[in-house]
Amino acid sequence: MRVQVTVLGCWGLATIGETSSFLVESKEANILLDMCPGVTRQLKQIGFATTELDFMYGSHIHADHLLGTTYLIFQRSVEQRTADAKQVRPIKLLGSASVIHVVQESMRLYYPERKFELPVEVINDGHAEIMWQDRVRLTFAQSNHTAECYSIRIDLLESGRSIVYTADGLFTDHTLELCHNADLLIGEAFGTVPDYESTYQTIKHSLGTHLGVLASRAGVRRVLPFHMHPRYDTEMTKKHELLAEIRENFNGEIIWPRDLMAITV
Ligand SMILES: [Zn+2]
Ligand SMILES: [Zn+2]
Repeated sequence: MRVQVTVLGCWGLATIGETSSFLVESKEANILLDMCPGVTRQLKQIGFATTELDFMYGSHIHADHLLGTTYLIFQRSVEQRTADAKQVRPIKLLGSASVIHVVQESMRLYYPERKFELPVEVINDGHAEIMWQDRVRLTFAQSNHTAECYSIRIDLLESGRSIVYTADGLFTDHTLELCHNADLLIGEAFGTVPDYESTYQTIKHSLGTHLGVLASRAGVRRVLPFHMHPRYDTEMTKKHELLAEIRENFNGEIIWPRDLMAITV
């Protein structure tokens, strides 16, 4: 089985598509990176059974990344009833204590009459690596965002592939370390310097230039920008300006995302 990343959502606002969510499928594990509001429907669009997920990763509490989690857990519990028991994987939620708190509280508030079995693993700076079945190494690094937020690196040890998802925030030296020689970097590129120069440090989002520098310094193979304002897709000149800003520093392949696009890593 090839390593495949499917874009379930990639925009900074849900104007033209879903917000942040990516599905990583491999022989080692199936991992969901953030749960955008429409994540369950997106998974169904590509015919993916929620019972086949091994990990759900919540990078931070902002709703564009986490709102879909509660309903996804519900849908999975329903799909589980009719699925072949041998096919059902024991899912685990990974995230900071704040992410896990929000998900557990929302499950309790939305479904007070039910109990869901949801194993969790808390990510924090003192617990920045998870080794799973000697096949997958997950490493985390905190970004500089308005909410506690972690970037994640997935090393698939049998497939020999590595994927980094920065999530939101200004990149740090730890982000750079995390990205070292990655095969695919899914990195924030909120917009261009001319458009956000005066605000990006306050709203704490990375721009095209930051992504280009990060990708180049870390020596990554391919870059998939995400979390753009939708106008960078609907206005052709804006899109080219942003791509040019990334290219100023990075000369590898840049993949412009689209909902439900699948990429072989
Ligand atoms: Zn955010
Ligand atoms: Zn966001």
